[in-house]
Amino acid sequence: MADFDLAIIGGGINGAGIARDAAGRGLKVVLLEQNDLASGTSSASSKLIHGGLRYLEHGALSLVRAALSEREVLLRAAPHLIRPLRFVLPVERSGRSRLVLRLGLLLYDVIGRRKILPGTRSLDLITDEAGQPLKRRLQRGYEYSDCFADDARLVVANAIGAAEAGASILTRTRCTRADRSDIWQLILNSRGRRDVVTERVLINAAGPWVDTVAETVLRQAPRRRLRLDKGSHIVVPRLYDHDRAYILQAGDNRVVFAIPFQNDFTLIGTTDRNFSGDPAAAVPTGEETEYLCGVINNYFRTAVGAADVVWAFAGVRALHEDGTRSPQDIGRDYTLGLDKQFGEAPLLTVYGGKLTTYRRLADEALGRLAQFFPRSQSWSHSWTANSPLPGGDFVYDGVPALVARAQQRWPFLGRPQSERLVRAYGTRVEKVLQGAARLEDLGENFAAGLTAAEVRYLMANEWAQTADDVLWRRSKLGLRFSQKERAALECFMTLADKGDSRYNDPP
Ligand SMILES: Cc1cc2nc3c(=O)[nH]c(=O)nc-3n(C[C@H](O)[C@H](O)[C@H](O)COP(=O)(O)OP(=O)(O)OC[C@H]3O[C@@H](n4cnc5c(N)ncnc54)[C@H](O)[C@@H]3O)c2cc1C
Repeated sequence: MADFDLAIIGGGINGAGIARDAAGRGLKVVLLEQNDLASGTSSASSKLIHGGLRYLEHGALSLVRAALSEREVLLRAAPHLIRPLRFVLPVERSGRSRLVLRLGLLLYDVIGRRKILPGTRSLDLITDEAGQPLKRRLQRGYEYSDCFADDARLVVANAIGAAEAGASILTRTRCTRADRSDIWQLILNSRGRRDVVTERVLINAAGPWVDTVAETVLRQAPRRRLRLDKGSHIVVPRLYDHDRAYILQAGDNRVVFAIPFQNDFTLIGTTDRNFSGDPAAAVPTGEETEYLCGVINNYFRTAVGAADVVWAFAGVRALHEDGTRSPQDIGRDYTLGLDKQFGEAPLLTVYGGKLTTYRRLADEALGRLAQFFPRSQSWSHSWTANSPLPGGDFVYDGVPALVARAQQRWPFLGRPQSERLVRAYGTRVEKVLQGAARLEDLGENFAAGLTAAEVRYLMANEWAQTADDVLWRRSKLGLRFSQKERAALECFMTLADKGDSRYNDPP
Protein backbone atom coordinates (compact mmCIF):
# COMPACT_ATOMS: atom_id res chain seq x y z
CA MET A 1 0.00 0.00 0.00
CA ALA A 2 1.29 3.45 -0.93
CA ASP A 3 2.00 6.20 1.65
CA PHE A 4 -0.07 8.72 -0.33
CA ASP A 5 -2.86 8.76 -2.90
CA LEU A 6 -1.26 11.65 -4.75
CA ALA A 7 2.19 13.26 -4.91
CA ILE A 8 2.64 16.62 -6.63
CA ILE A 9 6.04 17.88 -7.80
CA GLY A 10 6.05 21.71 -7.74
CA GLY A 11 4.89 24.19 -5.10
CA GLY A 12 3.84 26.96 -7.48
CA ILE A 13 0.25 28.07 -7.96
CA ASN A 14 -0.71 25.00 -9.97
CA GLY A 15 0.82 22.45 -7.59
CA ALA A 16 -0.55 24.20 -4.50
CA GLY A 17 -3.99 24.64 -6.12
CA ILE A 18 -4.16 20.94 -7.00
CA ALA A 19 -2.97 19.97 -3.49
CA ARG A 20 -5.74 21.99 -1.84
CA ASP A 21 -8.43 20.74 -4.17
CA ALA A 22 -7.34 17.10 -3.81
CA ALA A 23 -6.93 17.20 -0.03
CA GLY A 24 -10.33 18.89 0.29
CA ARG A 25 -11.81 15.91 -1.61
CA GLY A 26 -10.36 13.51 0.95
CA LEU A 27 -7.23 12.32 -0.87
CA LYS A 28 -4.00 11.78 1.02
CA VAL A 29 -1.67 14.27 -0.63
CA VAL A 30 2.00 15.23 -0.49
CA LEU A 31 3.26 18.42 -2.17
CA LEU A 32 6.99 18.57 -2.96
CA GLU A 33 8.76 21.89 -3.53
CA GLN A 34 12.52 22.01 -4.06
CA ASN A 35 12.86 25.55 -2.77
CA ASP A 36 10.29 27.84 -1.13
CA LEU A 37 6.60 27.88 -2.09
CA ALA A 38 6.11 30.24 -5.06
CA SER A 39 9.85 30.58 -5.56
CA GLY A 40 9.43 29.85 -9.29
CA THR A 41 7.23 31.67 -11.80
CA SER A 42 4.37 32.10 -9.35
CA SER A 43 6.01 35.01 -7.54
CA ALA A 44 7.30 36.64 -10.73
CA SER A 45 4.05 37.20 -12.63
CA SER A 46 2.41 40.53 -13.46
CA LYS A 47 -0.03 39.56 -10.69
CA LEU A 48 -3.12 40.10 -12.81
CA ILE A 49 -6.24 38.04 -12.51
CA HIS A 50 -7.43 38.79 -16.00
CA GLY A 51 -8.75 37.48 -19.27
CA GLY A 52 -5.87 39.01 -21.20
CA LEU A 53 -7.28 41.67 -23.50
CA ARG A 54 -4.60 41.16 -26.10
CA TYR A 55 -5.26 37.43 -26.51
CA LEU A 56 -8.59 38.42 -28.10
CA GLU A 57 -6.55 39.66 -31.05
CA HIS A 58 -5.33 36.12 -31.58
CA GLY A 59 -8.86 34.73 -31.46
CA ALA A 60 -8.27 32.93 -28.15
CA LEU A 61 -11.89 33.53 -27.22
CA SER A 62 -12.46 30.45 -25.10
CA LEU A 63 -9.25 31.00 -23.11
CA VAL A 64 -10.22 34.63 -22.48
CA ARG A 65 -13.78 33.73 -21.53
CA ALA A 66 -12.67 31.02 -19.10
CA ALA A 67 -10.10 33.32 -17.50
CA LEU A 68 -12.52 36.25 -17.26
CA SER A 69 -15.08 34.18 -15.43
CA GLU A 70 -12.44 33.23 -12.84
CA ARG A 71 -11.89 36.87 -11.84
CA GLU A 72 -14.92 37.16 -9.60
CA VAL A 73 -14.70 33.56 -8.38
CA LEU A 74 -11.18 34.23 -7.08
CA LEU A 75 -12.03 37.72 -5.83
CA ARG A 76 -14.77 36.22 -3.64
CA ALA A 77 -12.49 33.41 -2.47
CA ALA A 78 -9.59 35.65 -1.46
CA PRO A 79 -10.74 39.26 -1.11
CA HIS A 80 -7.70 40.03 1.06
CA LEU A 81 -5.23 38.89 -1.62
CA ILE A 82 -7.10 39.98 -4.73
CA ARG A 83 -8.59 43.38 -5.49
CA PRO A 84 -10.45 44.89 -8.44
CA LEU A 85 -8.30 47.21 -10.52
CA ARG A 86 -9.33 49.70 -13.21
CA PHE A 87 -7.03 49.88 -16.24
CA VAL A 88 -6.61 53.05 -18.28
CA LEU A 89 -5.93 52.40 -21.95
CA PRO A 90 -4.79 55.59 -23.70
CA VAL A 91 -5.59 55.74 -27.42
CA GLU A 92 -2.36 56.23 -29.34
CA ARG A 93 -2.53 57.31 -32.99
CA SER A 94 0.24 54.93 -33.99
CA GLY A 95 -1.35 52.01 -32.11
CA ARG A 96 -4.56 50.04 -32.58
CA SER A 97 -7.48 52.14 -33.86
CA ARG A 98 -10.17 53.43 -31.51
CA LEU A 99 -12.71 51.20 -33.21
CA VAL A 100 -10.60 48.07 -32.65
CA LEU A 101 -10.02 48.98 -29.01
CA ARG A 102 -13.69 49.78 -28.44
CA LEU A 103 -14.83 46.50 -30.00
CA GLY A 104 -12.24 44.50 -28.06
CA LEU A 105 -13.34 46.04 -24.78
CA LEU A 106 -17.00 45.52 -25.63
CA LEU A 107 -16.32 41.84 -26.23
CA TYR A 108 -14.26 41.67 -23.01
CA ASP A 109 -17.25 43.09 -21.09
CA VAL A 110 -19.84 40.89 -22.78
CA ILE A 111 -18.06 37.56 -22.28
CA GLY A 112 -16.71 38.52 -18.86
CA ARG A 113 -19.64 37.33 -16.68
CA ARG A 114 -19.34 40.39 -14.43
CA LYS A 115 -21.49 40.86 -11.36
CA ILE A 116 -19.06 42.86 -9.25
CA LEU A 117 -16.58 44.46 -11.63
CA PRO A 118 -17.76 47.63 -13.41
CA GLY A 119 -17.73 47.72 -17.22
CA THR A 120 -15.77 49.76 -19.74
CA ARG A 121 -16.15 53.52 -20.12
CA SER A 122 -14.55 56.14 -22.36
CA LEU A 123 -12.18 58.65 -20.84
CA ASP A 124 -11.45 62.24 -21.71
CA LEU A 125 -7.79 62.35 -20.72
CA ILE A 126 -7.77 66.15 -20.89
CA THR A 127 -10.16 66.41 -17.93
CA ASP A 128 -9.81 63.05 -16.16
CA GLU A 129 -7.22 62.70 -13.40
CA ALA A 130 -5.81 59.68 -15.26
CA GLY A 131 -4.63 62.02 -18.05
CA GLN A 132 -2.56 64.23 -15.74
CA PRO A 133 0.67 62.19 -15.65
CA LEU A 134 0.45 61.43 -19.38
CA LYS A 135 1.88 63.32 -22.34
CA ARG A 136 -0.42 65.98 -23.78
CA ARG A 137 -0.90 64.31 -27.15
CA LEU A 138 -2.91 61.58 -25.39
CA GLN A 139 -6.43 62.95 -25.23
CA ARG A 140 -8.76 59.96 -25.39
CA GLY A 141 -8.77 56.63 -23.67
CA TYR A 142 -10.83 53.82 -22.19
CA GLU A 143 -11.06 52.37 -18.74
CA TYR A 144 -11.94 48.73 -17.99
CA SER A 145 -11.79 46.23 -15.10
CA ASP A 146 -9.54 43.34 -14.17
CA CYS A 147 -8.09 42.24 -10.81
CA PHE A 148 -4.69 42.42 -9.12
CA ALA A 149 -3.40 39.67 -6.82
CA ASP A 150 -0.62 38.94 -4.41
CA ASP A 151 0.58 35.97 -6.46
CA ALA A 152 2.99 34.46 -3.92
CA ARG A 153 0.53 34.73 -1.04
CA LEU A 154 -2.14 33.13 -3.21
CA VAL A 155 0.15 30.10 -3.49
CA VAL A 156 0.73 30.06 0.26
CA ALA A 157 -3.02 30.39 0.96
CA ASN A 158 -3.64 27.32 -1.21
CA ALA A 159 -0.88 25.42 0.60
CA ILE A 160 -2.39 26.35 3.99
CA GLY A 161 -5.80 25.19 2.76
CA ALA A 162 -4.25 21.92 1.60
CA ALA A 163 -2.42 21.38 4.89
CA GLU A 164 -5.56 22.09 6.90
CA ALA A 165 -7.33 19.41 4.86
CA GLY A 166 -4.56 16.96 5.77
CA ALA A 167 -1.94 17.38 3.01
CA SER A 168 1.78 17.17 3.76
CA ILE A 169 3.58 20.23 2.40
CA LEU A 170 7.30 19.57 2.06
CA THR A 171 9.33 22.63 1.09
CA ARG A 172 13.09 22.60 0.41
CA THR A 173 12.44 19.04 -0.72
CA ARG A 174 13.57 18.14 -4.19
CA CYS A 175 12.28 15.08 -5.96
CA THR A 176 15.40 13.56 -7.51
CA ARG A 177 14.12 10.27 -8.85
CA ALA A 178 10.78 8.58 -9.52
CA ASP A 179 10.46 4.83 -10.06
CA ARG A 180 7.26 3.53 -11.55
CA SER A 181 5.55 0.18 -10.99
CA ASP A 182 1.93 -0.24 -9.93
CA ILE A 183 2.74 2.58 -7.51
CA TRP A 184 5.27 5.42 -7.63
CA GLN A 185 8.35 5.46 -5.45
CA LEU A 186 9.96 8.88 -5.14
CA ILE A 187 13.42 9.66 -3.82
CA LEU A 188 13.50 13.01 -2.06
CA ASN A 189 16.39 15.21 -1.06
CA SER A 190 15.51 17.50 1.79
CA ARG A 191 18.53 19.66 2.60
CA GLY A 192 20.86 16.69 2.19
CA ARG A 193 18.59 14.15 3.90
CA ARG A 194 17.33 11.33 1.70
CA ASP A 195 13.71 10.18 2.03
CA VAL A 196 11.51 7.79 0.13
CA VAL A 197 7.75 8.14 -0.33
CA THR A 198 5.31 6.04 -2.32
CA GLU A 199 2.02 7.07 -3.94
CA ARG A 200 -0.65 5.83 -6.30
CA VAL A 201 -0.66 8.81 -8.67
CA LEU A 202 2.01 11.41 -9.53
CA ILE A 203 1.51 14.92 -10.88
CA ASN A 204 4.34 16.80 -12.55
CA ALA A 205 3.43 20.47 -11.91
CA ALA A 206 6.96 21.82 -12.11
CA GLY A 207 6.05 24.83 -14.31
CA PRO A 208 9.01 25.77 -16.51
CA TRP A 209 10.94 22.79 -15.09
CA VAL A 210 8.32 20.32 -16.29
CA ASP A 211 10.47 18.94 -19.15
CA THR A 212 13.54 18.78 -16.89
CA VAL A 213 11.60 16.77 -14.32
CA ALA A 214 10.26 14.51 -17.09
CA GLU A 215 13.75 13.83 -18.41
CA THR A 216 15.90 13.75 -15.29
CA VAL A 217 13.50 12.59 -12.54
CA LEU A 218 11.01 10.46 -14.45
CA ARG A 219 13.62 9.49 -17.06
CA GLN A 220 11.14 9.82 -19.91
CA ALA A 221 12.38 10.16 -23.48
CA PRO A 222 12.93 13.85 -24.32
CA ARG A 223 9.98 15.36 -26.18
CA ARG A 224 10.13 19.07 -25.61
CA ARG A 225 6.58 20.33 -25.52
CA LEU A 226 7.34 23.62 -23.92
CA ARG A 227 8.68 26.89 -25.19
CA LEU A 228 10.23 28.97 -22.45
CA ASP A 229 9.82 32.74 -22.48
CA LYS A 230 11.31 35.12 -19.97
CA GLY A 231 9.36 38.14 -18.74
CA SER A 232 10.89 40.88 -16.60
CA HIS A 233 9.38 43.57 -14.41
CA ILE A 234 10.84 46.67 -12.82
CA VAL A 235 9.62 48.57 -9.75
CA VAL A 236 10.14 52.32 -9.48
CA PRO A 237 8.99 54.95 -6.94
CA ARG A 238 5.33 55.76 -7.46
CA LEU A 239 4.80 57.45 -10.85
CA TYR A 240 1.40 59.02 -10.17
CA ASP A 241 -1.11 59.64 -7.38
CA HIS A 242 -4.33 57.83 -8.30
CA ASP A 243 -5.07 54.14 -7.81
CA ARG A 244 -5.73 53.02 -11.39
CA ALA A 245 -3.30 51.10 -13.60
CA TYR A 246 -2.28 51.80 -17.21
CA ILE A 247 -2.08 49.42 -20.12
CA LEU A 248 0.24 50.92 -22.73
CA GLN A 249 0.68 49.85 -26.33
CA ALA A 250 4.35 49.40 -27.13
CA GLY A 251 5.86 49.92 -30.57
CA ASP A 252 6.41 46.17 -31.09
CA ASN A 253 2.67 45.46 -30.77
CA ARG A 254 3.02 44.22 -27.18
CA VAL A 255 1.49 45.87 -24.12
CA VAL A 256 3.20 47.10 -20.97
CA PHE A 257 1.41 47.60 -17.65
CA ALA A 258 2.10 50.31 -15.06
CA ILE A 259 0.42 49.26 -11.83
CA PRO A 260 0.22 50.92 -8.38
CA PHE A 261 2.30 48.66 -6.12
CA GLN A 262 2.74 48.45 -2.34
CA ASN A 263 1.46 52.04 -1.83
CA ASP A 264 4.70 53.84 -2.68
CA PHE A 265 5.76 52.18 -5.92
CA THR A 266 4.78 51.47 -9.52
CA LEU A 267 5.22 47.99 -11.00
CA ILE A 268 6.11 48.04 -14.72
CA GLY A 269 6.13 45.01 -16.97
CA THR A 270 6.55 42.91 -18.83
CA THR A 271 9.04 41.96 -21.49
CA ASP A 272 8.85 38.79 -23.55
CA ARG A 273 12.13 37.12 -24.54
CA ASN A 274 13.02 33.58 -25.63
CA PHE A 275 14.73 31.70 -22.84
CA SER A 276 16.82 28.58 -22.51
CA GLY A 277 18.60 27.15 -19.50
CA ASP A 278 17.62 26.82 -15.84
CA PRO A 279 14.60 29.05 -15.07
CA ALA A 280 16.09 29.69 -11.62
CA ALA A 281 18.88 31.63 -13.33
CA ALA A 282 16.56 34.07 -15.15
CA VAL A 283 17.37 37.68 -14.33
CA PRO A 284 16.25 40.98 -15.85
CA THR A 285 18.82 42.48 -18.22
CA GLY A 286 19.77 46.11 -18.76
CA GLU A 287 18.24 45.92 -22.23
CA GLU A 288 14.88 44.85 -20.75
CA THR A 289 14.96 47.70 -18.22
CA GLU A 290 15.70 50.08 -21.07
CA TYR A 291 12.78 48.69 -23.08
CA LEU A 292 10.33 49.08 -20.20
CA CYS A 293 11.55 52.59 -19.35
CA GLY A 294 11.30 53.48 -23.05
CA VAL A 295 7.61 52.51 -23.18
CA ILE A 296 6.87 54.46 -19.98
CA ASN A 297 8.77 57.50 -21.25
CA ASN A 298 6.76 57.46 -24.47
CA TYR A 299 3.55 57.92 -22.45
CA PHE A 300 4.40 59.66 -19.16
CA ARG A 301 5.56 63.24 -18.66
CA THR A 302 7.99 62.30 -15.90
CA ALA A 303 10.83 60.23 -17.32
CA VAL A 304 12.17 57.10 -15.63
CA GLY A 305 15.53 55.44 -16.17
CA ALA A 306 17.60 52.56 -14.87
CA ALA A 307 18.72 54.66 -11.88
CA ASP A 308 15.10 54.84 -10.64
CA VAL A 309 14.66 51.08 -10.47
CA VAL A 310 14.43 49.91 -6.84
CA TRP A 311 13.71 46.27 -7.62
CA ALA A 312 13.55 44.09 -10.73
CA PHE A 313 12.58 40.47 -11.19
CA ALA A 314 12.24 37.97 -13.99
CA GLY A 315 10.06 34.90 -14.39
CA VAL A 316 9.90 32.19 -17.01
CA ARG A 317 6.65 31.29 -18.71
CA ALA A 318 6.10 27.73 -19.81
CA LEU A 319 4.17 27.95 -23.06
CA HIS A 320 2.74 24.74 -24.34
CA GLU A 321 3.52 24.13 -27.98
CA ASP A 322 1.15 21.77 -29.76
CA GLY A 323 2.46 22.62 -33.21
CA THR A 324 -0.80 24.08 -34.48
CA ARG A 325 -0.55 27.65 -33.30
CA SER A 326 1.58 30.68 -34.14
CA PRO A 327 4.10 31.82 -31.48
CA GLN A 328 1.81 34.63 -30.23
CA ASP A 329 -1.04 32.19 -29.97
CA ILE A 330 1.00 29.70 -27.99
CA GLY A 331 -0.94 31.48 -25.44
CA ARG A 332 -1.34 31.27 -21.80
CA ASP A 333 -3.62 28.23 -21.97
CA TYR A 334 -2.81 24.96 -20.24
CA THR A 335 -2.83 21.33 -21.29
CA LEU A 336 -3.04 18.29 -19.03
CA GLY A 337 -1.27 15.18 -20.24
CA LEU A 338 -2.42 11.90 -18.70
CA ASP A 339 -0.12 8.91 -19.06
CA LYS A 340 -1.80 5.70 -17.88
CA GLN A 341 -0.17 2.55 -19.10
CA PHE A 342 -1.73 -0.74 -18.11
CA GLY A 343 -0.37 -2.06 -14.82
CA GLU A 344 1.59 1.13 -14.13
CA ALA A 345 0.78 3.96 -11.77
CA PRO A 346 -0.68 7.01 -13.57
CA LEU A 347 1.19 10.25 -14.28
CA LEU A 348 -0.48 13.60 -14.96
CA THR A 349 1.64 16.40 -16.43
CA VAL A 350 0.65 20.08 -16.32
CA TYR A 351 1.87 22.14 -19.30
CA GLY A 352 1.57 25.92 -19.27
CA GLY A 353 -1.25 27.81 -17.58
CA LYS A 354 -1.92 31.17 -15.98
CA LEU A 355 -2.18 32.35 -12.42
CA THR A 356 -5.79 33.28 -13.24
CA THR A 357 -6.85 29.80 -14.28
CA TYR A 358 -5.12 27.74 -11.58
CA ARG A 359 -8.37 26.81 -9.78
CA ARG A 360 -10.03 25.55 -12.96
CA LEU A 361 -6.85 23.69 -13.86
CA ALA A 362 -6.85 21.95 -10.46
CA ASP A 363 -10.53 21.07 -10.79
CA GLU A 364 -9.98 19.65 -14.27
CA ALA A 365 -6.88 17.73 -13.17
CA LEU A 366 -8.85 15.99 -10.42
CA GLY A 367 -11.67 15.26 -12.83
CA ARG A 368 -9.14 13.47 -15.06
CA LEU A 369 -7.88 11.43 -12.11
CA ALA A 370 -11.32 10.38 -10.82
CA GLN A 371 -11.06 7.02 -12.61
CA PHE A 372 -8.12 5.97 -10.43
CA PHE A 373 -9.80 6.33 -7.07
CA PRO A 374 -12.73 4.46 -5.54
CA ARG A 375 -16.11 5.94 -6.33
CA SER A 376 -17.13 5.76 -2.70
CA GLN A 377 -14.95 8.76 -1.91
CA SER A 378 -16.85 12.02 -1.91
CA TRP A 379 -14.09 13.58 -3.90
CA SER A 380 -15.61 13.56 -7.36
CA HIS A 381 -17.38 16.87 -6.58
CA SER A 382 -15.88 20.20 -7.63
CA TRP A 383 -15.87 22.31 -4.49
CA THR A 384 -13.40 25.19 -4.74
CA ALA A 385 -15.53 27.69 -6.70
CA ASN A 386 -17.55 28.62 -3.63
CA SER A 387 -15.09 28.05 -0.86
CA PRO A 388 -12.99 30.87 0.62
CA LEU A 389 -9.25 30.47 0.84
CA PRO A 390 -7.76 30.71 4.36
CA GLY A 391 -8.31 34.23 5.67
CA GLY A 392 -10.74 35.02 2.85
CA ASP A 393 -13.98 34.29 4.69
CA PHE A 394 -15.45 37.78 4.36
CA VAL A 395 -17.28 39.76 1.68
CA TYR A 396 -15.39 40.72 -1.49
CA ASP A 397 -15.39 44.44 -0.60
CA GLY A 398 -14.90 43.94 3.13
CA VAL A 399 -11.24 44.96 3.48
CA PRO A 400 -11.95 48.54 4.74
CA ALA A 401 -14.31 47.16 7.43
CA LEU A 402 -11.71 44.57 8.51
CA VAL A 403 -9.03 47.28 8.67
CA ALA A 404 -11.31 49.48 10.79
CA ARG A 405 -11.96 46.55 13.13
CA ALA A 406 -8.23 45.80 13.35
CA GLN A 407 -7.55 49.42 14.27
CA GLN A 408 -10.11 49.30 17.05
CA ARG A 409 -8.77 46.02 18.34
CA TRP A 410 -5.04 46.92 18.06
CA PRO A 411 -5.00 50.78 18.13
CA PHE A 412 -1.22 50.82 18.62
CA LEU A 413 -0.63 49.48 15.10
CA GLY A 414 -1.42 52.54 12.99
CA ARG A 415 -3.38 52.48 9.77
CA PRO A 416 -0.73 51.44 7.19
CA GLN A 417 0.33 48.53 9.39
CA SER A 418 -3.28 47.40 10.02
CA GLU A 419 -3.96 47.57 6.32
CA ARG A 420 -0.86 45.59 5.41
CA LEU A 421 -1.71 42.86 7.90
CA VAL A 422 -5.37 42.62 6.82
CA ARG A 423 -4.35 42.49 3.15
CA ALA A 424 -1.87 39.71 3.91
CA TYR A 425 -3.78 37.57 6.41
CA GLY A 426 -7.46 38.55 6.04
CA THR A 427 -9.50 37.28 8.96
CA ARG A 428 -6.46 35.38 10.25
CA VAL A 429 -4.76 38.56 11.38
CA GLU A 430 -5.94 37.63 14.88
CA LYS A 431 -3.73 34.53 14.78
CA VAL A 432 -0.72 36.61 13.79
CA LEU A 433 -1.15 39.15 16.57
CA GLN A 434 -2.28 36.60 19.17
CA GLY A 435 -4.04 38.87 21.62
CA ALA A 436 -1.26 41.47 21.81
CA ALA A 437 -2.30 44.38 24.00
CA ARG A 438 0.69 46.65 23.34
CA LEU A 439 3.21 47.07 20.54
CA GLU A 440 5.91 45.63 22.82
CA ASP A 441 3.94 42.36 23.04
CA LEU A 442 4.80 41.74 19.37
CA GLY A 443 8.51 41.63 20.14
CA GLU A 444 11.37 43.01 18.07
CA ASN A 445 10.48 45.31 15.17
CA PHE A 446 12.96 44.43 12.41
CA ALA A 447 11.91 47.30 10.11
CA ALA A 448 8.79 48.57 8.31
CA GLY A 449 6.51 47.09 10.98
CA LEU A 450 7.69 43.48 10.65
CA THR A 451 7.69 42.15 14.19
CA ALA A 452 9.04 38.99 15.79
CA ALA A 453 5.45 37.81 16.38
CA GLU A 454 4.69 37.96 12.66
CA VAL A 455 7.94 36.22 11.73
CA ARG A 456 7.25 33.46 14.25
CA TYR A 457 3.76 33.07 12.79
CA LEU A 458 5.20 32.80 9.27
CA MET A 459 7.73 30.21 10.36
CA ALA A 460 5.19 28.13 12.28
CA ASN A 461 2.25 28.37 9.87
CA GLU A 462 3.48 29.36 6.42
CA TRP A 463 6.71 27.38 5.88
CA ALA A 464 8.93 30.50 5.92
CA GLN A 465 12.54 29.51 6.59
CA THR A 466 14.72 32.35 5.32
CA ALA A 467 14.66 36.15 5.33
CA ASP A 468 13.90 36.13 1.60
CA ASP A 469 10.88 33.86 2.13
CA VAL A 470 9.50 36.51 4.49
CA LEU A 471 10.65 39.64 2.65
CA TRP A 472 9.87 38.68 -0.97
CA ARG A 473 7.21 35.97 -0.93
CA ARG A 474 5.17 36.15 2.34
CA SER A 475 5.35 39.94 1.99
CA LYS A 476 7.06 42.54 -0.20
CA LEU A 477 8.75 44.20 2.76
CA GLY A 478 12.06 43.57 0.99
CA LEU A 479 11.32 46.86 -0.78
CA ARG A 480 11.72 48.65 2.55
CA PHE A 481 14.53 46.68 4.22
CA SER A 482 18.21 47.64 4.22
CA GLN A 483 20.89 44.93 3.93
CA LYS A 484 21.63 45.32 7.65
CA GLU A 485 17.98 44.88 8.62
CA ARG A 486 17.71 41.84 6.37
CA ALA A 487 20.80 40.32 8.00
CA ALA A 488 19.28 40.84 11.48
CA LEU A 489 16.10 39.08 10.35
CA GLU A 490 18.09 36.20 8.84
CA CYS A 491 20.02 35.81 12.09
CA PHE A 492 16.78 35.80 14.13
CA MET A 493 15.23 33.17 11.87
CA THR A 494 18.30 30.93 11.94
CA LEU A 495 18.34 30.95 15.74
CA ALA A 496 14.57 30.46 15.98
CA ASP A 497 14.87 27.55 13.54
CA LYS A 498 17.47 25.95 15.80
CA GLY A 499 14.98 26.13 18.64
CA ASP A 500 16.75 28.79 20.73
CA SER A 501 13.99 29.60 23.22
CA ARG A 502 14.86 33.31 23.31
CA TYR A 503 13.77 33.47 19.69
CA ASN A 504 10.79 31.18 19.91
CA ASP A 505 8.92 32.31 22.98
CA PRO A 506 6.88 35.48 22.89
CA PRO A 507 8.45 38.07 25.23
C1 LIG B 1 6.55 37.49 -16.62
C2 LIG B 1 5.30 36.71 -16.37
C3 LIG B 1 4.12 37.39 -16.11
C4 LIG B 1 2.95 36.67 -15.88
N1 LIG B 1 1.82 37.36 -15.57
C5 LIG B 1 0.68 36.70 -15.33
C6 LIG B 1 -0.48 37.42 -14.97
O1 LIG B 1 -0.46 38.64 -14.79
N2 LIG B 1 -1.61 36.72 -14.77
C7 LIG B 1 -1.67 35.37 -14.92
O2 LIG B 1 -2.76 34.82 -14.76
N3 LIG B 1 -0.57 34.65 -15.21
C8 LIG B 1 0.60 35.28 -15.42
N4 LIG B 1 1.73 34.59 -15.71
C9 LIG B 1 1.67 33.12 -15.74
C10 LIG B 1 1.79 32.53 -14.34
O3 LIG B 1 2.70 33.23 -13.56
C11 LIG B 1 2.20 31.07 -14.44
O4 LIG B 1 1.30 30.40 -15.27
C12 LIG B 1 2.18 30.34 -13.10
O5 LIG B 1 2.85 31.07 -12.11
C13 LIG B 1 2.81 28.97 -13.27
O6 LIG B 1 2.74 28.31 -12.05
P1 LIG B 1 3.30 26.85 -11.91
O7 LIG B 1 2.85 26.35 -10.58
O8 LIG B 1 2.94 26.03 -13.09
O9 LIG B 1 4.90 27.02 -11.99
P2 LIG B 1 5.93 27.58 -10.90
O10 LIG B 1 5.36 28.69 -10.10
O11 LIG B 1 7.21 27.86 -11.59
O12 LIG B 1 6.11 26.36 -9.91
C14 LIG B 1 6.84 25.20 -10.26
C15 LIG B 1 7.63 24.79 -9.03
O13 LIG B 1 8.20 23.51 -9.25
C16 LIG B 1 9.37 23.43 -8.43
N5 LIG B 1 10.18 22.29 -8.87
C17 LIG B 1 10.80 22.13 -10.06
N6 LIG B 1 11.47 20.95 -10.08
C18 LIG B 1 11.26 20.34 -8.89
C19 LIG B 1 11.68 19.11 -8.30
N7 LIG B 1 12.47 18.24 -8.96
N8 LIG B 1 11.27 18.80 -7.05
C20 LIG B 1 10.48 19.66 -6.35
N9 LIG B 1 10.06 20.86 -6.85
C21 LIG B 1 10.44 21.19 -8.10
C22 LIG B 1 10.02 24.79 -8.67
O14 LIG B 1 10.92 25.13 -7.64
C23 LIG B 1 8.80 25.72 -8.72
O15 LIG B 1 8.55 26.39 -7.49
C24 LIG B 1 2.94 35.26 -15.93
C25 LIG B 1 4.13 34.58 -16.18
C26 LIG B 1 5.30 35.30 -16.38
C27 LIG B 1 6.58 34.59 -16.61
